[in-house]
Amino acid sequence: MTTIDATHDPTLESWVASANAADTDFPLQNLPFGRFRRADDSDWCIGVAVGDQVLDLRQAGLVDGADMNRLMRLAAEPRKALRHAISEGLREGSAMRSRFEPALVAQSEVEMGVPCDVRDYTDFYVGIHHATAVGKLFRPDNPLLPNYKHVPIGYHGRASTINASGHDFRRPAGQLMPPGATQPELKACERLDYELELGIFIGRPNPQGVPIPMEQAEEHVFGIALFNDWSARDIQSWEYQPLGPFLSKNFASTVSPWIVTTEALAPFRRAFERPAGDPQPLPYLDSEANRAQGAIDIGLEAWLQTPAMRAAGHAGDCIARSNYAQVAYWTMAQLVAHHTVNGCSLGAGDLLGSGTLSGPGPGQCGSLLEATQGGKQALTLSNGEQRTFLQDGDAIILKGYCSRDGLRRIGFGECRATVLPYSS
Ligand code: MN
Repeated sequence: MTTIDATHDPTLESWVASANAADTDFPLQNLPFGRFRRADDSDWCIGVAVGDQVLDLRQAGLVDGADMNRLMRLAAEPRKALRHAISEGLREGSAMRSRFEPALVAQSEVEMGVPCDVRDYTDFYVGIHHATAVGKLFRPDNPLLPNYKHVPIGYHGRASTINASGHDFRRPAGQLMPPGATQPELKACERLDYELELGIFIGRPNPQGVPIPMEQAEEHVFGIALFNDWSARDIQSWEYQPLGPFLSKNFASTVSPWIVTTEALAPFRRAFERPAGDPQPLPYLDSEANRAQGAIDIGLEAWLQTPAMRAAGHAGDCIARSNYAQVAYWTMAQLVAHHTVNGCSLGAGDLLGSGTLSGPGPGQCGSLLEATQGGKQALTLSNGEQRTFLQDGDAIILKGYCSRDGLRRIGFGECRATVLPYSS
């Protein structure tokens, strides 16, 4: 686990004035990494968000290339040194200001991409309230399957259709077999949903055949972004047995542009405890450090903006609030240790989706499947509109932040995309 140092000092201020605003997601204490470009045909550059600006790391003389995956492979010490160099250079009164200032560009003037080349993608299912609520729709008396509390459940997804935030996508078509029908047909999805997730980015690779033990697992994590695992529930219910989700999940996923590093998240760690009476994990999924501070306090929100809201200049309704530490049954160290226990290799740019991070109560459902009880109970929005599943033109915006008394609040930016109509 990374430690708290001078870069987390809540009193630090920057010569970039917007980084000192109370409500910015990107104060000096955050310094998340992303990829940006200044024009459609220009090359992607590695940037760090500070206030409403991006610091071009190559132009500032801090890295010598534009390969984010290479940067993510850095070992703990050089990574920490890079964070310190950025923090010190952006600090009020820094002698580096004259070198850094020309390397700043306004976020409003650049396009943000997927933050690295996503090499491979696995989606887990760590949200126990989501697993219980979805299980209840199918098995009211026995919602959680017997393996859930012993093994982190996941499936292999596809990296090819992971989009940057702001990249809209078309409603998918697929084989549908509605209840009562006798023949499936190929149709546009009628039960399109979102999933409120976090995306855990791997940095340090492990060679095939060499599992990563719990004690080292976090050294292999570069950081975390917001992740929306768009889901076609009607395609899913017909195709998922016996091998799990397939085309219901791989038509689009959206990731936020900034990876908040594990260093930035260090002050927001929390003890990880299992409820009394639950089975303890096998030793390969347990460590003292994981119990002491394996969880991370990240507040999460999902917003829905309909076309009518957009036309009226309305930012949308917050339809879900949740907290990663409160709802995740497995920590990121456990996901890494489990994923590699059989010798599977992870590489820089591997993305591990957390699974839907719903809370237990109303207003905490990180998918419409749960919020509408499988489409049976429509949500009524603030302008009187109703939704069971997503309609064309609807946008989902995910937000995340860490805040704690005595610390500087840091945010994740946003993860946004709009559903476009189906087109054959
Ligand atoms: Mn998912």
